[in-house]
Amino acid sequence: MPITVLRLAIPSPLARSFDYLPPAGINPAQLVPGMRLRVPFGRGQAIGILLGFSHVPAVPLDKLKPALELLDNTPVLPEELMRLLNWAVQYHHHPVGEVYATALPVLLRQGEKAEARHKSCWRLSDSGHHFDAAELDKRAPKQAALIRRLQQYPEQGLLAEQLAEVQGNWQTAMAALVKKELVHMHTAPSLEQGLGSDTQPPQLNPEQQAALDHIHQHRHSFSPCLLDGVTGSGKTEVYLRAIEQVIADGKQALVLVPEIALTPQLLDRFRRRFKLPLAVMHSAVSDRDRLNAWCYARDGEAAIVIGTRSAVFTPLKNPGIIIVDEEHDTSFKQQSGFRYSARDLAVVRGHQLNIPVVLGTATPSLESLHNVDLKRYQRLHLPQRAGEAKPPRIRLLDVRHQRMEDQLSEGLLHNIRAHLERGNQVLLFLNRRGFAPTLLCHECGWTAECRRCDAHMTLHQRLRQLRCHHCGSQRRVETQCPKCGSVDLRGLGSGTERIEQALREHFPDTPVDRIDRDSTRRQGSLEAILDAMHDGDARILIGTQMLAKGHHFPKVTLVGILDGDQGLFGIDFRAGERMAQLITQVCGRAGRAEQSGEVLIQTHHPEHPLLNLLCQQGYSAFARAALDERRLAALPPFSHMALLRAEANDAQLPNEFLEQALDAAAPFNPGPVELYGPVPSPMERRAGKYRAQLLIQCEQRAPLHKMLEGWTLALRNLPLSRKVRWSLDVDPVDLI
Ligand code: ADP
Ligand code: ZN
Ligand code: ZN
Repeated sequence: MPITVLRLAIPSPLARSFDYLPPAGINPAQLVPGMRLRVPFGRGQAIGILLGFSHVPAVPLDKLKPALELLDNTPVLPEELMRLLNWAVQYHHHPVGEVYATALPVLLRQGEKAEARHKSCWRLSDSGHHFDAAELDKRAPKQAALIRRLQQYPEQGLLAEQLAEVQGNWQTAMAALVKKELVHMHTAPSLEQGLGSDTQPPQLNPEQQAALDHIHQHRHSFSPCLLDGVTGSGKTEVYLRAIEQVIADGKQALVLVPEIALTPQLLDRFRRRFKLPLAVMHSAVSDRDRLNAWCYARDGEAAIVIGTRSAVFTPLKNPGIIIVDEEHDTSFKQQSGFRYSARDLAVVRGHQLNIPVVLGTATPSLESLHNVDLKRYQRLHLPQRAGEAKPPRIRLLDVRHQRMEDQLSEGLLHNIRAHLERGNQVLLFLNRRGFAPTLLCHECGWTAECRRCDAHMTLHQRLRQLRCHHCGSQRRVETQCPKCGSVDLRGLGSGTERIEQALREHFPDTPVDRIDRDSTRRQGSLEAILDAMHDGDARILIGTQMLAKGHHFPKVTLVGILDGDQGLFGIDFRAGERMAQLITQVCGRAGRAEQSGEVLIQTHHPEHPLLNLLCQQGYSAFARAALDERRLAALPPFSHMALLRAEANDAQLPNEFLEQALDAAAPFNPGPVELYGPVPSPMERRAGKYRAQLLIQCEQRAPLHKMLEGWTLALRNLPLSRKVRWSLDVDPVDLI
């Protein structure tokens, strides 16, 4: 009889799968790819996922060990997801075990049963509602008592512990009632239940209707579309309607949003619209609840799954549509380990499933616009704000020669005052938290640097701390210059904390609030600030990019961008695109109700062509021009990139490893692939490690991937490959 060898994916930096024999006492015919097995691994144990079988082991038979235990009766990963993961393994040239591990909820990685733990709940059936309990009083008094109690809770039904309060041994009586079909048992899901209270959604405008019609007409096929609509144009309304139709077809919707945009407001909107179970997955959801949500999605019990990046790997029983909101957001890209893009994987998954994928945004990524140009994506355009809201007027504020303290020019202060006097609210944006970007000695010029990074420490005045925003290290603020002993130490430049303080001085009678990662660390504090803005208790709000996501501030009539030049001269070729997206998103927060808004962008470069284009003609015009620049420079999306990064405690090793890698590339390079470097990373030392990188670029994707395939295998055999930490990033979103 031929032996059966199991091929398993086991989390490990090794790129290959691992071979085992079936566990003792298990008939190999029982095994299906996607099941988990516990196996001996190294000196300990590991949990692997069955990828497939082979009859020719990769190692001698006597070296093969049997797996210890089969953990599942049915695969935890359906075939469809395995296909997606196998695609990702090939595309990202990443170890299969790590890819599979990334896709599973933490508890499944640890060996937990792939079952939702839910509570059972008993509710009256239709006949039970009208049943006269007195009929049972003689023959079955226990059943009568249960019916009476349940009739007090006709809607919700009762849980086991509540029934136990009625009588001790209630189970037998209840079983009889269920048999008579007077009572149904339900599972009370630990699953969000929508209210469906919002029964009168707005009438769609013609553009929204056209977008919805397109999605509906293509609902049975892979049809990626870019829902390109300014903030407030009613994209979310289109998602809700499209989901409604999908659910009417008996299918499920998967909605991906950036972490920071998954706000209570957004969830409320879904809950109000749908009287259906929602599975929610984000970083604050406990591991148990995440596994529950995962199981409910897999079993088809959750009609809608809303989650952040890793939710793209949620199994779905009846997938009907995938929606990616804020598709331009870089948080869809995982920045460590298996560096996938959830947006791009959503499109691949939609393709494999043959269902529509909707990428929505007010500021499309240049990649997605390019895909529209190539006719890969259909553009659905919502050019106007829905309802009555008017778009804001945008102006550049030339701050050259103006008196300017703490990033607040006289011109801006004047405008803030005017808007406040009219009873309105003001939003100010600066993408830099803390009090000041660094601490400077006025006597000798010393600046506070991080001991572990090539970076300045940020001054956090209120905490009397210096913090590094790159590695997280912190220390108390020096009171004396360590170099010259002077006590004249000053914060150089401004962050949001300093501006908040300055605003309080300028406007002593006006309530000022701040939104950034420091001010919202405590649970509930973000909600409190948002509520204060909504109720009008706060009048001026200063914040970082957290402002750009999802929140609506209908009473804001003035938006001030304090540093419009941030990003104009970034080292990364995407810096300009990011800045334009941020500015546009922040602008979109203003004047959403009946009052129209005004945006002022402070700049030292009022002639800058792209900045002018953005202000005068908006994001689309900016994006067209930026795409032209990319084409001329043969940068993505007109070429494809991968970045090989290496880091080590030793300053030389990363560079040496990359030199070896460069030499090793030649035999695999079919010709057109260009390699640049190695060079030190823009921040060479971070968190105590020295870092270097090698950029790989090619105008066509196929030769690039062909080369990466052979090369990554060769890299693992390089002498230094175990002395440095290295990683390959296919389609990197930043080059640092
Ligand atoms: P986006 O997702 O593009 O920012 P939303 O869907 O959140 O836009 O819509 C912005 C606001 O306009 C919301 O308050 C929404 O209820 C409202 N709205 C959306 N579509 C319409 C419409 N067709 N008529 C009136 N109001 C609408
Ligand atoms: Zn000094
Ligand atoms: Zn640091």
